[in-house]
Amino acid sequence: MSWHVEIDERTCIGSGMCAGLMPEVFVLDGAVAHPVTPEVEPDETVLDAADSCPAMAILVTDGGREIGPRP
Ligand code: SF4
Repeated sequence: MSWHVEIDERTCIGSGMCAGLMPEVFVLDGAVAHPVTPEVEPDETVLDAADSCPAMAILVTDGGREIGPRP
């Protein structure tokens, strides 16, 4: 089952860290990042990106359950 990735554009500060870590999942578009596609294959690196986002703007869910960023 795939995971769902969202980025809060109001919170994203455009650091580009997520796109640098996983360019196949995140793309920086001007001042904000977007998921390349909202559904992604489960991959710990997606959670790493959510954990390391300086604005905590990345939300990862699995079947509606929030799994990233991790506590
Ligand atoms: S790491 Fe966070 S703040 Fe930086 S571009 Fe990605 S979503 Fe935006």
